[in-house]
Amino acid sequence: MPEHACLSDVGRTRTENEDSSVVEELPDGLLCAVADGMGGHAAGEVASRIAVDSLAELAHIARKGQVLLPSIEKAAERAHQEILEAAREGREGMGCTLTVAAVRPGRLEWLHVGDSRAYLLRDGDLRQLTDDDSWVAELVRQRIITAEQARDHPSRNVLTRALGFGTHAEVRTGTADTGSDDVLLICSDGLTNHVPDDAIREMLHRRQTLADAARELVDAANDGGGSDNITVVLARCLAKA
Ligand code: MG
Repeated sequence: MPEHACLSDVGRTRTENEDSSVVEELPDGLLCAVADGMGGHAAGEVASRIAVDSLAELAHIARKGQVLLPSIEKAAERAHQEILEAAREGREGMGCTLTVAAVRPGRLEWLHVGDSRAYLLRDGDLRQLTDDDSWVAELVRQRIITAEQARDHPSRNVLTRALGFGTHAEVRTGTADTGSDDVLLICSDGLTNHVPDDAIREMLHRRQTLADAARELVDAANDGGGSDNITVVLARCLAKA
């Protein structure tokens, strides 16, 4: 199994952890995901668990085959429908973000909805693969506010898309080429609200192990205030077979 690390922390101000994460082995790599739940009375925890369980199930079913983007999209839609169903049974307003990546030889395939993020460290550069589906990210894209202002914006938690919103899951997908020195990071906003990209890049670049880096990232988010749950999944990418 390629080197990976997964760490989740409740943070400094919340009493519950509504983030969920999963790393599953695939025949040719890894399936990694982070989901960040929302909705009161533990609904967020239920929603994010539904999302990552749907992917874990996909990885189990696919034990001998490949997990390709279309099957990841179907798993996201299944989770979306299950969250809608749970919401109808009394957990109104429940939903979650979902960022998933399949790490396979020479290539990453990702699916994303919400404001958790996937990043790729490649040749010392950190590139954000996913765009946040949030109101403040839209303001940044339209150059109304800066990325710096977005981090402290009072409405930074308002999402424009999530699992559990709307009739069908509205997700984005993408791919990236990878080499064996590259590192995938998937994280919830509890990290990125407190730790700027430059600091994340620095910690990943000078790491000893991915487990060390995960610990350092979570500690940095807590040192920065720890205002939300913090979840970090790291995986070493694979070179082309
Ligand atoms: Mg969060």
